[in-house]
Amino acid sequence: MMKENLQQLEEAYEIIKNNKLIEIDEKKNVIEILRHAKRLVRVSLPIVMENGVIKVFEGYRVQYNDARGPFKGGLRYHPEVDEDEVTSLSFWMAIKCAVADIPMGGGKGGIIVNPKELSKTELEKLTRAFARALAPVVGPMVDVPAPDVYTTPEMMSWFKDEYSKVVGVDSPAVITGKPLTDGGSKGRDKATGLGAVYALEAYLEKTDKKETTVAVQGFGNAGLHFAELAHAEWKIVATSDSKGAVYNEAGLNIQDLIKHKEETKSVINFPGSKNITNEELLALEVDVLVPAALNSVITETNWKNIKAKTIVEIANGPISLPESKKLADAGITIIPDVLANAGGVVVSYFEWEQNINNQSWELDDVNIKLKDKIRSAFSAIWEAKEKYNLDLRTAAYVLAVARILEAEQKRN
Ligand code: NAD
Repeated sequence: MMKENLQQLEEAYEIIKNNKLIEIDEKKNVIEILRHAKRLVRVSLPIVMENGVIKVFEGYRVQYNDARGPFKGGLRYHPEVDEDEVTSLSFWMAIKCAVADIPMGGGKGGIIVNPKELSKTELEKLTRAFARALAPVVGPMVDVPAPDVYTTPEMMSWFKDEYSKVVGVDSPAVITGKPLTDGGSKGRDKATGLGAVYALEAYLEKTDKKETTVAVQGFGNAGLHFAELAHAEWKIVATSDSKGAVYNEAGLNIQDLIKHKEETKSVINFPGSKNITNEELLALEVDVLVPAALNSVITETNWKNIKAKTIVEIANGPISLPESKKLADAGITIIPDVLANAGGVVVSYFEWEQNINNQSWELDDVNIKLKDKIRSAFSAIWEAKEKYNLDLRTAAYVLAVARILEAEQKRN
C-alpha cells in the first residue's frame, strides 16, 4: 500500500516542480522528508483478562508528518492491523488534512485485536493501557488521535481520561470523536456524509446536470448519513450493506429504509424495492455512484462495468489506483476520498479547537464552517485540475503535497 502512496507523492512532486507551483530549493531535497514517516511507535499492552490470565496485545502509532500542525488520525482495533497499513493510512491523513487546509498533520494507529472477542471491561483496560503507552508521544499540541474501524466515542473518553491522569491535567483536546457529553462536537456523527454532499453539490454546480440519480454502496455511518442528507436534493435509487443491495428506479424513501434497517438489521427485502447484489449496484445505470463501504471494490475485474459518470469516494481507497486512472481517462469524474470523506476529520479538528478554547459551538455553526472548508478545498482542487489539466485525485495530491512541502521548507 505504501508503494502506491509513494508513487502518488512522486507524481505530485513532478507536477509541482514542472509547473513551479511553489518555490523549491531542489538541492536541499526537502521532498525526501515526505518519503518517510517521522515516528513509528510499537507498544506491548499486557491486559489481565476476565479469566485472570495475562494477554499481550500489540499496538502501533505512526506519526507521518506534522509540518502543518499536530499529527491527526484514527485508532483502529482490528485483527489485521499491521505496520505497513498503518503507515500508509498515516500518510493518507497528512494528505487529507492538507487538502482540507486544516492545521493538522497525518497520523494513524491501531491495535491487533478483534474487539468482538473482548468484554467491555477488557476493552476499557486495553484502551487505557494504550493511552498510558502512547502518553509520552501524543498530546493536544503533538498528536491527536480519533476513532476509526471498530473504535467508539466511549473508547475515546477512556483514552482522554487515562491520558489526563498520566499528565495530571484534564486534556480533552488529546483525542477527538468523544461523546457529546464528554467534550465531543455537535455534527461529528453526520460530518462525513454531509461533507460528501457538499463536495458533490460543488461539483454538480460545475456541470449542467439537473436530474441526478445516485447509488450508494454501504449503509453504515458514512453511507447512511450521506443518503439521508442527499435524499432532499437527489434521487437515491439504490443502496446496500454486507447482505446485499436494494434498488428502486423511482427512488428509495430513505427515512423508511432507515426504519426497515433498524427493524430487520439489513436494507434487503425493503418493501417496494428489488433485491440486487452489490456487484449489480456498482454497475447500475445511474448518474452518481457512491462507494461508502470498503476499500478496493472497483478493481481490474469490474471497472469496465461502471456506467455512472461521477463517482464520490466516501470509503477510503474504494478504487485501485490503476483503475482510477483508467476511469478518469474514460471520462468518469472521481471526487477523490481525500476530499469526499474529509468532513469527518474537519469536524474532528473543530472538536479539538472547541476543546482548546473551552467552547461549544452550535450545530448550525459547525455545518456552516464545514461547508466553507469543503467548498474552498473543492475550488482549489478544481482550479489546479483546470490549470494543469489533471484528474481531481491528482489535483488534490498536488495541492496537498505543495502545502506540506511549503511548511517543511519553512522549518528546514
Ligand atoms: P460502517 O462500518 O459504519 O459501515 C460500513 C457499511 O458497509 C455497512 O453498511 C456494511 O454493512 C457495509 N458493508 C460491509 N461489507 C460490505 C460488502 N462486502 N459489500 C457491501 N457493503 C458492505 O463504516 P463507516 O464508518 O460508514 O465507513 C465506511 C467507509 O467510509 C470506510 O471505508 C471508512 O474508512 C470510510 N470513512 C468513514 C468515515 C466516518 O466518519 N465514518 C470517515 C472517513 C472515511
